[in-house]
Parts: sequence; structure tokens; C-alpha cells
Amino acid sequence: MRIDVVTLFPEFIAALLGCGVTGRGAVRGLIEVACWNPRDYTHDRHQTVDDRPYGGGPGMLMKVQPLRDAIDAARAASPQRARSIYLSPQGRRLDQAGVRELAREPALLLVCGRYEGIDERLIEAEIDEEWSIGDYVLSGGELAAAVIIDAVARLAPGVLGNAASAEQDSFADGLLDCPHYTRPEAIDGRQVPGVLLSGDHAAIARWRLKQALGRTWLRRPELLAGVGLDAQRRALLDE
Ligand code: SAM
Repeated sequence: MRIDVVTLFPEFIAALLGCGVTGRGAVRGLIEVACWNPRDYTHDRHQTVDDRPYGGGPGMLMKVQPLRDAIDAARAASPQRARSIYLSPQGRRLDQAGVRELAREPALLLVCGRYEGIDERLIEAEIDEEWSIGDYVLSGGELAAAVIIDAVARLAPGVLGNAASAEQDSFADGLLDCPHYTRPEAIDGRQVPGVLLSGDHAAIARWRLKQALGRTWLRRPELLAGVGLDAQRRALLDE
């Protein structure tokens, strides 16, 4: 998958690509990320990237010409037609279903706003969709772009050491994940649940499913409405 990011702070995205599984995915070429900085497309001595809003009021907007030229450059460099996304608190709220949808795209173009955002006519002309990472306001779209890149990269084939781990994560099957334990067997008197030491794989699978169902019911009951247990998991609970 290819992801082009239009941002005034490419170093923010570079930091993400230096870390963990996302970084390994980039190094191995499983995801390809390129940044395009509007500041590189300015023509004035001060490299101006902001401009005053019509109608007055507080705050600035991103200057149209450098932003537009950066978007054009990103599009020209992408081998496929990318689905273009403006990160915005007013957009569609990201969830795991949305991440799965975006992960199926061969190419994404993520446009990060700064200041009070970008000119509405650029959104109309250049952007397929607006996406939000939650109902709060960040000072820039870079964090939101990083969230999308990280969540999408985890689903790209080969990025995770063990593909099954993404299938067991929260939301993958509609449920929250079960609790996990590692060594030692006891921490300050708190024991690992005995079933996990039993070697009985069916019993462990049943315990994990019950924990996931219980947690989801306690913490996020609204998720249960969308969960259909397949025959295999129903049989496990009946045992
Ligand atoms: N004036 C805008 C509004 O109220 O809708 C907010 C501008 S915000 C200070 C600057 C930039 O941060 C936005 O252009 C957007 O790219 C990004 N941003 C802020 N909150 C976001 C969120 N929840 N999800 C995605 N991007 C966000």
C-alpha cells in the first residue's frame, strides 16, 4: 500500500515510521509512505504557508497555492489514483471497520490541516472524504494521519510478525480482547488464571471467549448488538 501525506511537519510522520511494526513495515517495503510539505512549494522569501480568512476573525488558514501544489505533486507521484482524505474533526469518525475499509485501498492521500484548517473550495475540489479520529480538536492533522497509517499498516499483509494477532485484537470480531498474562506465574500474590497453564487448548479458547464476551458486556455493551457468534464459537460455549 502507498500512503502520501501532505503535511507541514513531515518529521512527525517520519517519527512514526522509525518505530515498531509500522517502521518495520516501511523498511521492508510493505507500506510505502511519502510526505509532501507545502512549505517546499512556496515562492516567497519567507516561505509563507498561512493566510488570513475572508470575513476576518481569529486564526489563519493554510495558504491555498502551496497546499494545492503539494497535493498535485503527491498525486503525480502516486502510481495509483489515491483515495484522498482530509483529516478533520468534522469528518467520519474512524473505527476498526473504517480502518479495514481504508486498508483495502491501494493508495491513500492524507491531507493534514493546521491553523483553522483549509479553504473549503480545496476540500470540494481535491478531497474524497473527511475523516476524524474523535470528537476533540487537535492542533494539526498529523496525529490523526499517524493514527490512520499505524492502524492501516497493522492490517497490511506481512507487517505483523504473526497475522493471527490482528485477528484476535479488540474489534476484529466485534468483541474486546480477552486479558493477557506473561511470566512470572505470580506477581505480588496475583496468580495467572489456572486454565492458561493447563495445556487444554479447547478450555483456553473457551475461557478467552467468555472473558472477551464478559469484558465487552461490562465495558462496551453497545458493541454486543453487532456481534454474531459463528457456529464454532457457539459450540465452544456449549461445551
Ligand atoms: N477549525 C477547525 C474546526 O473546528 O473544525 C479545527 C482546526 S484544527 C485546530 C487544525 C487541524 O487539525 C484541522 O484542519 C485538522 O486537519 C486537524 N484536526 C483537528 N482535530 C482533528 C480530529 N479530531 N480528527 C482529525 N483531524 C483533526
